[in-house]
Amino acid sequence: MIEIDGSVGEGGGQILRTSLALSMCTGQPFSLTKVRAGRAKPGLMRQHLTCVNAAKEVSGAEVLGAELNSQSLTFTPGQVRAGDYHFNVGTAGSCTLVLQTVWPALLMADAPSRLKLGGGTHNPMAPPFHFLERSYAPLLKKLGANAELKLRRLGFYPAGGGEIEVTIWPAKDALQPFDLNDRGAKVEGYAECFAPALPRSVARRELEQLGAALGWSGDQLREAPTRQHEGPGNALLATLVYENLSEVFTEFGEKGVSSEKVARDLVREVRAYQVAGAALGPHLADQWSLPLALAVWKRQREATFTCTELTDHAKTNFEVIERFLPLKFSTSVWSAGWQIVVEPV
Ligand code: AMP
Repeated sequence: MIEIDGSVGEGGGQILRTSLALSMCTGQPFSLTKVRAGRAKPGLMRQHLTCVNAAKEVSGAEVLGAELNSQSLTFTPGQVRAGDYHFNVGTAGSCTLVLQTVWPALLMADAPSRLKLGGGTHNPMAPPFHFLERSYAPLLKKLGANAELKLRRLGFYPAGGGEIEVTIWPAKDALQPFDLNDRGAKVEGYAECFAPALPRSVARRELEQLGAALGWSGDQLREAPTRQHEGPGNALLATLVYENLSEVFTEFGEKGVSSEKVARDLVREVRAYQVAGAALGPHLADQWSLPLALAVWKRQREATFTCTELTDHAKTNFEVIERFLPLKFSTSVWSAGWQIVVEPV
C-alpha cells in the first residue's frame, strides 16, 4: 500500500488524480490522507468524487472513503477494462480533469474506449477542452498514444452542462519516450473568444485589446461560434503553434471583471511564454510529466523536456509520480527556464 500525504507540496486535487491514474496503470493500491488539505475547502468536492468513481468503474477498484468532503481515501485497483463510459460531474466542475484521471489507465487497456463526459469544459484552474485537444493530445500522439476529442457542448461555471466525447486507443506496447527541449519554428498564433449568451461587444473588445497588444489582426482574432444555451460564459484563448508543440493560454471573464483586464492578463501569459526559450508552458509541464513518465517506465529509456516555469504543481506531480514508478525526475536551470530529466532507476 503506497501512502500519500495529500497536504504535501501543492496540496490540491492533482495529487489525488495522479495517484488514481498511476495506481490503475501499475496495479498498486494507495491510501491518501489529508485530501486537498492545501485548499480553502479541503476534501473531495463533487468533481474529485467523480474522478474517484470514474477510476473505480474503469478498474473495478475497491474504494474506501469515496464520499463528498471525505479527507481520506483507500483505493485498490483491479484490472483496467476498455469500454463505453459515461461520467458526469453533475455540477460545473471540470470534466476535463475526470478525463485526465482515466486517460492513462485506458491507454493500458487491450481495446479502444469511448467516453462521454459531462460538466465544465472551460474552467479556471483546470485544463480547458481546447488545451487538451491542441496541446496535450498531439504530444500524447507523438508518444504513440492516439485519442480523438470532440467538444459537443461548452460548459462554464456556474451552469455547467458541457459535453465532451473522447475515443482512446490502447498504447501500452506503442509508448516511446522522446525529448522535447525546443519548440521548433513558429507556425502561427491566433486568439478566440468564446462568449455564449453575452453581448457581442464583450468578445470584440477582448479580441481588439489582445490584438493591439500582441500585434495580431484580421483572421488571427476570432469570435468563436457558440450557442445561446451554452452560456453565459466567457473564455479568451490564445493558441501558439510551433513546429514541435502548440500551447494554449486561457483567461476567463466574469461579472465585475472588465474585458480589458481579461485581455491584459492573457497578454501577460502569452508574452511570458514568447520571451522564454523553453518548450513547455507552466501548465503543460506539470501535465506532460505523467504520460512521459509512463513511456520512460515502459521503455526503460530516459527522456528530457524544458519548461518556462517550475511550478508547485509540476514539482508535486514529479514527487507523486516517483512514489508509483521506479523513476527519478531531476531539474536544472536551462536558458531562461528549466530542464527536466526523467530516468529509470
Ligand atoms: P489542481 O489545482 O491540483 O486541481 O490541478 C489543476 C490542474 O489543472 C493542473 O494540472 C494545472 O496545470 C491545470 N490547469 C489549470 N489551469 C490551466 C490552464 N489555464 N490551462 C491548462 N491547464 C490548466
